[in-house]
Amino acid sequence: MTAAANPRTPVYLDYQATTPADPQVVEAMLPYFTGIFGNPHSQGHGFGRAARDAVEAARAEIAALIGASPREIVFTSGATEANNLAIKGAARFHRAERDHIVTSVTEHKCVLESCASLAADGFTVSTLPVQADGLIDLERLEAAISPRTVLVSVMAANNEIGVVAPLAAIGRLCRARGVLFHTDAAQALGKIPLDVEAMGIDLMSLSAHKLYGPKGIGALYVRRRPRVRLEPLLSGGGQERGLRSGTLATPLCVGFGAACRIAQTEMAAEAERIGALRDHLWRRLSQELPGVRLNGTAAARLPGNLNISIPAIGDAEALLAALPDVAISTGSACTSAAVEASYVLRALGIGEAAARTGVRIGLGRFTTRAEIDYACERIVSAVQRLSACAQPAWSNALEAIETGPAGSP
Ligand SMILES: *Cc1c(COP(=O)(O)O)cnc(C)c1O
Repeated sequence: MTAAANPRTPVYLDYQATTPADPQVVEAMLPYFTGIFGNPHSQGHGFGRAARDAVEAARAEIAALIGASPREIVFTSGATEANNLAIKGAARFHRAERDHIVTSVTEHKCVLESCASLAADGFTVSTLPVQADGLIDLERLEAAISPRTVLVSVMAANNEIGVVAPLAAIGRLCRARGVLFHTDAAQALGKIPLDVEAMGIDLMSLSAHKLYGPKGIGALYVRRRPRVRLEPLLSGGGQERGLRSGTLATPLCVGFGAACRIAQTEMAAEAERIGALRDHLWRRLSQELPGVRLNGTAAARLPGNLNISIPAIGDAEALLAALPDVAISTGSACTSAAVEASYVLRALGIGEAAARTGVRIGLGRFTTRAEIDYACERIVSAVQRLSACAQPAWSNALEAIETGPAGSP
């Protein structure tokens, strides 16, 4: 095998944690920091109206990417806030009649913690397990819904293992049972087709920085027909139809809109290119690393996601440390400070050794074939080094534990 032409290093392969802003996005944003700086809620003069027009154009671009109407888009600071607003907002609004929420164990922490905070407040939460493929069982979901259920929250695509939920089937089920369907689509937006009508979605959380837009902005889609009612999280000036008070960040709104516009035209070709690179990487890794396993189904998966376990390395952190010029991750950015194995991998029932050695490799718009070949060679040689020297190191450590240091009682 010939060595790959070396790409510029370090190689970034953590596109599920965040993406770089597309240069076209940054260019679209720049005029709104200085020249067109008006408050988009100040309608008494041209400064404000110009900013408002830009915000409304961005809102329309976001809506178009998910088959919604612009009036159904509520800007937020990101998907974390959108998830909080959807879940707490719907639950609190309807609490007199309904006090039960259904979600799944592999949701993002901000969904699980929003549900936990409602549980502490007297709501009942059913957290569904996932199957070995990483997806929930629809029969279990149906069985979990009761006349007290207000909302089902199931993510569109998982941030660690990239598996894509059968949204239309979940939407039909929720509609038939008269419960709201919320989906966290932070990872799915701009990567796979989304349509709130065809998929029966009532509430959908979005984030700009996962699709080459700026950090610090997202949105909540809120269905108007039939109208979904929410209690707002923030008290204030009543912006965003009363659902999200606060002055909108015009440059961020514009950047989010530009990111959606680019995704609209690039998504299909990009998914094909990135999916082919990912499949190439998986083919090589699965040939060159004995015992490697793919976590989550290959059948319904984001094109840019690979999540693999390599039990021979003992611990995913060791592999990351051995790869100083390839940026991959052990799982979600929010929990990677903890030494514990990922709760998402644990939920797959793959065993402790596989869960502890899971790594996520995220490909995206700027990933090249040369980067993938380089990363592959680096990973393979790091795994070989680790599995060769980890064994004696482990047995030395074990021996030391068993015999104790010399001279100890
Ligand atoms: C990144 C992410 C979030 C959080 O989004 P922010 O905009 O960073 O708050 C929520 N859910 C999923 C699935 C994500 O990937």
